[in-house]
Amino acid sequence: MFSMMEAARLEALHLADDPVSGLKAVIAIHSTRLGPALGGCRYLAYPDEQSAIRDAIRLAQGMSYKAALAGIDHGGGKAVLIRPAHLDSRAALFEAFGRFIETLNGRYITAVDSGTSSADMDCIALHTRHATSTSSAGDPSPHTALGVFAGIRATAQARLGGDDLEGLRIAVQGLGNVGFALAEALHAAGAELLVSDLDAGRVQLAVEQLGAQPIASEALLTTPCDILAPCGLGGVLNRQSVAHLRCAAVAGAANNQLASPEIADELEARGILYAPDYVLNAGGLIYVALRHRGEGLPAITAHLARISQRLTDIYAHAQAEKRSPARVADRLAEHLLYER
Ligand code: NAD
Repeated sequence: MFSMMEAARLEALHLADDPVSGLKAVIAIHSTRLGPALGGCRYLAYPDEQSAIRDAIRLAQGMSYKAALAGIDHGGGKAVLIRPAHLDSRAALFEAFGRFIETLNGRYITAVDSGTSSADMDCIALHTRHATSTSSAGDPSPHTALGVFAGIRATAQARLGGDDLEGLRIAVQGLGNVGFALAEALHAAGAELLVSDLDAGRVQLAVEQLGAQPIASEALLTTPCDILAPCGLGGVLNRQSVAHLRCAAVAGAANNQLASPEIADELEARGILYAPDYVLNAGGLIYVALRHRGEGLPAITAHLARISQRLTDIYAHAQAEKRSPARVADRLAEHLLYER
């Protein structure tokens, strides 16, 4: 366990086991150097405890990079709750988790993630004020979509010579909370939309409301387009898929799009501009962090606007150094986290 922590440069790992509620929780605090660690809480079944711990550590590190480049004065953290085979009361489990968070004295602030909801955050918030994305705080997804939209314009400017999206062919993979809102904004900007989702109903909605062209999920990645926007699951950019992409740039909301760091170099070698996912999709984190601090929409909107400038700067560095923007973003984040 300590070698895993050392490799990720993890600050602290906290475990809780509460037989009464069934809570088995891991909180990984990657860094508090720039501020309290902020990051989502997953509630999933894991094959074993080691996998849950590994997941928490990896994700907490990612949150530190995202927060550092978003400039929100937070470090990265992540919580993983191991979903039990049988549970008496979901509310009791999340309340127990709230008490666990409270013992950390504000060093970790939680948020919604895979398998959790605002209702779960409400249970946590009964016992600690270090919980965001409660039902009264609002949904971060539209803000994530806004940031991605602005980032797509910056990407079009850098790769295609102009930020006007009118007439550009943009392929959106995944029409969930973020993907659909993004598709709406792209449609309003005059883009030609190509869309896929595993849920045929979401696709139908985009066809009817946005005039989108439906594409089979397995074919979307190889469909000729200007910009590919992965907004479904992570890991879509791997050795096989990258070899067959037919786009000028990839810029989407999905977390962890690169199956491994080297894939960024393969995209670069193919002349495909890659928008580092955690820079582009930071809108949700910015919303959650600023709402938690009591900020209103004007401050949130102003902060969101910085995403496209950050991306433009990263593209300029990447071009000058002939490196992938993903490598440049990682180096910048590491500088902020470890060298300042
Ligand atoms: P969501 O669950 O609402 O939507 C995901 C959609 O993608 C679903 O409709 C699903 O059917 C579809 N999908 C999954 N795999 C697909 C595939 N192979 N082909 C086509 N469609 C596929 O999730 P969301 O909140 O919209 O988030 C989307 C992505 O953005 C996730 O990777 C998430 O981690 C990331 N993200 C979300 C936020 C946020 O604020 N919600 C913030 C940062 C990052």
